[in-house]
Amino acid sequence: MTRVAFIGLGRMGHGMAGRYLDAGFTVTLWNRSKAKAEDLIARGALWATSPEDAAIDADAVVTMVADDEASRTVWLGLKGAAKTAKAGTIAIECSTVSYDHAREMGRELNARGLIYIDCPVMGLPDAAASGKLTLLAGADAADLERARPYLEPIGSTIRHFGAVGSGTVYKLINNLMGAIQIAGLAEGLAIAEQAGLDMNLVLESILSGVAASPQVQRHSRRMVARDFTGATFTAALRHKDAAYAVKLAESLLADKPLVSSAAVEAYDRARATMPDDDEGKMIELVSQPKKPS
Ligand code: NAP
Repeated sequence: MTRVAFIGLGRMGHGMAGRYLDAGFTVTLWNRSKAKAEDLIARGALWATSPEDAAIDADAVVTMVADDEASRTVWLGLKGAAKTAKAGTIAIECSTVSYDHAREMGRELNARGLIYIDCPVMGLPDAAASGKLTLLAGADAADLERARPYLEPIGSTIRHFGAVGSGTVYKLINNLMGAIQIAGLAEGLAIAEQAGLDMNLVLESILSGVAASPQVQRHSRRMVARDFTGATFTAALRHKDAAYAVKLAESLLADKPLVSSAAVEAYDRARATMPDDDEGKMIELVSQPKKPS
């Protein structure tokens, strides 16, 4: 039976790993904290004691961890998957990492005989659990075809942007634009609140107006109601993605990316005080009345 090693069982990875079980793969799991694996083990997954252990005899290794540092640890760390993954294993990085990191991992893992694709995803945890993610692939075309059987269980759409790293470029600009929209929404609502407007009327007007992107639709009601239960995407992750995007922008554009840098700054404040809270909670930071002078 085809063997998949799945590493990283957070909000997204847990549902994605379950999709491989549903599709009949032999799935070996590793997560930094084992508790998140228990129900998947009860469904038939095997537990590995390290990424290195998980990758033994795997046909594909799929990772879904937080950031560059976590990705480096699970692939290239002392007990990293690259230690044992055999030549020809498909290495699929679904975590959102930086462009430089994706390209470096491609070089490092290719040098060890692995086939690497960067494959960050679009969609929330419910899409991860139901196999409806959009996969943003960066890979040689032949490598993508080899990886396809391992992508189909987790994604309903596969977009191939080009060589390794290109899926990550698209993911980073997508999440940077999201950061700008959410930070802008928080400030717009804050101004309206402090000016004493009827916030139900403001909400109705925003949702029927031209600024109502899906991001704005997703966050405006929750921001006005200050309802941040069931966080799907945290302030720390939004900051990380926007910061990686700005770093990439600075390497490509002649001028400093002003709007993007401001969004990173806004999310840096949110990350400092509420890293694990929903990204929309940043309105609590910006909607403070000005002190009388
Ligand atoms: P999450 O719930 O915070 O899970 C993060 C995962 O990374 C956990 O498995 C965590 O292990 C692991 N991890 C963190 N630091 C680690 C380290 N130093 N060494 C080993 N493992 C480490 O995050 P998520 O929402 O699932 O997001 C995962 C990735 O998907 C991120 O790159 C994120 O940007 C991206 N993404 C998220 C969404 C979303 O809606 N949430 C959507 C698209 C893409 P523990 O369980 O032990 O903490």
